[in-house]
Amino acid sequence: MPPNHGQLSGIQLLTALRGDPPTFAPGEVWLAGAGPGDPGLLTLDALAGLLQADVVVHDALVDARVLAIARPGAQMQFAGKRGGKPSIAQEDICAQLVAHARRGFRVLRLKGGDPFVFGRGGEEVLALAAAGIPFRVVPGVTAGLGGLASVCIPATMRGVNQAIILATGHDPDEDGTMDWSALARTRQPIVLYMGLRNLDKIAAALMRGGLPANTPAAVIASATLADQQILVSTLDRIAAEAHAANLAAPAMAVIGDIVRTRQQLLDTCAQAMVIAHTSQVTAPRENSTCDD
Ligand code: SAH
Repeated sequence: MPPNHGQLSGIQLLTALRGDPPTFAPGEVWLAGAGPGDPGLLTLDALAGLLQADVVVHDALVDARVLAIARPGAQMQFAGKRGGKPSIAQEDICAQLVAHARRGFRVLRLKGGDPFVFGRGGEEVLALAAAGIPFRVVPGVTAGLGGLASVCIPATMRGVNQAIILATGHDPDEDGTMDWSALARTRQPIVLYMGLRNLDKIAAALMRGGLPANTPAAVIASATLADQQILVSTLDRIAAEAHAANLAAPAMAVIGDIVRTRQQLLDTCAQAMVIAHTSQVTAPRENSTCDD
């Protein structure tokens, strides 16, 4: 675990970078996103929240290195959902945020990615507002965009797509409101959060909706982290291959031609590197002069 850098130097750093950091008032709740994983993708305002909070209520997806920079003495409370295991009910999380704030604590509610993208942040804000608790929302880099960039898949590319769909793959059977055929007809790429478990059903629904079986598809696991993995395949095979590869959560699927663009970008980068390397080889020797 990295050393705790302490409040003073952190606040000084923030002030140097962005002027006075926002002040965390006692009795206030900040609902912040911590980004997809890599601590480098934390925003400065989320950092300011961590350095001032009395209580940090965090999800499973928030990296330990991020939590380690909390103010010494801050109370750290896990309120995440771990796949398959009993987790704290959303109402209880809301009630705890309200209770902590009423005790006069500065409460940082820290979530993975962006708090308002499949993070139930909206429900928490409603609960805070209903209880008359002052709050601030600190945006974060959502996995569906930051995680794509981290594996060199451009979210949009001229001539390839004009929109990008962020969708949840969670429990499509329980909540049959998602019209996958309608999404398929847009021919725009789909990023599926929480989609690994239902990927086979969703892929089948998209193909029934007219998306070709050979549409490029990828699964990205632990995007931006050291154990990041990407599996590139096609829509008809992606679910089985992701299962066979034992890809673990957190993972998301990306379906659409932007996945193919990745290979083009990587090939271009590889070529650029070869050119750079060649020019290094042909550069003048160290002891040569301009007159050589
Ligand atoms: N609020 C979060 C999303 C929470 S839902 C955000 O904005 O990113 C949790 C889902 O997000 C996971 O099941 C997975 O699909 C996706 N996810 C989050 N972090 C991820 C990561 N580092 N790599 C891949 N997928 C990730």
